[in-house]
Amino acid sequence: MSIIERARPEIRKMAAYASARAIAGMAPVTLNANESPWPGPADTSGRLNRYPDPQPAALVERLAEHFGVAPEQTLVTRGSDEAIDLLVRAFCEAGKGSVVQCPPTFGMYGISARIQGARMINVPLLADQGFALDAPAIWEAARDESVRLVFLCRPNNPTGSLFDASLVTDLCEALTDHAMVVVDEAYMDFSSEPSLAQSLNNYPNLGVLRTLSKAHALAGARCGCLLAGSEVVSLLKKIIAPYPLPTATIDAALAALAPDSLAATAEQTALLNHGRDTLAAFLPTLPYVQAQWPSAANFILMKVTDGPALCAWLAERGVLVRNFHTTQGLENCLRISVGSPPENARLKSLLESYSS
Ligand code: PMP
Repeated sequence: MSIIERARPEIRKMAAYASARAIAGMAPVTLNANESPWPGPADTSGRLNRYPDPQPAALVERLAEHFGVAPEQTLVTRGSDEAIDLLVRAFCEAGKGSVVQCPPTFGMYGISARIQGARMINVPLLADQGFALDAPAIWEAARDESVRLVFLCRPNNPTGSLFDASLVTDLCEALTDHAMVVVDEAYMDFSSEPSLAQSLNNYPNLGVLRTLSKAHALAGARCGCLLAGSEVVSLLKKIIAPYPLPTATIDAALAALAPDSLAATAEQTALLNHGRDTLAAFLPTLPYVQAQWPSAANFILMKVTDGPALCAWLAERGVLVRNFHTTQGLENCLRISVGSPPENARLKSLLESYSS
């Protein structure tokens, strides 16, 4: 049995929409897609009259090379948000399929599941153990017949915690032919740990989400990818929008993955990690900070005496941080993204002057 047999039967059976560009590419005279023959008057690129390539080969190859996988194991998506949504739609039948997640974690797993009518099974992180994964409880929950997907965020948003890679591979083994184990590595560039993408060939039910939105500084371009077995990638190609990536996004992503850009990104990442570590050393000196958690990402979660009041006070002074007070288990917690050195300095001087 293959993990694909756990996907929705109607999706497995259907054929993908055959867009003009996907069928035939481009020719000297291209009259098969009802496009304008001329670029628009404000189109400085001179190329936007044409639909983009649905899965641009150059970008797929570049991403695959960058993450150390094969092109057929790479699906380029409109941000990793889209990949989450495609996985839930392809694997979970409304009212029948279930998704396991470990809150507090990234909100889109739950949103996508709700939209699809999938049941969400929550296995909370262990707050008293630095938001560690509750591996035995995940195993127990994921064995339920209805479970199709287990989302694990590594490093986790919003806690910044990083669990052991062997937990993922053990879970993949335990759930072979039963559920996809999807590791969201949106913040992996900020960690020194290797990516789980390197384990893809050993575990057909493993999926790894990556994005260019964070360390690669392209949140506005919307480019992410799912790295997974080629059968899973082919399955999701059936339900992805015909042209998910705008031409300008494809250009920006390719430019970001060029060697010079990658070198500059590595420098910026090191600077952000330094900023994070400096902030982590500073926060405990503040009398109103009750807890903070070690982070392997570009943010820090901390707990203060009155989280909403501090967030509001900072906002009044032009500094936005994320208030997690209403998230279960994160009362009075706020998440601070690491900024540029002047932004961090501004934050630090405000935090020093704040009295709770
Ligand atoms: N995963 C995690 C853990 C995130 O925090 C985010 C964005 N905040 C995403 C995925 C979505 O990223 P993208 O911009 O690629 O859609």
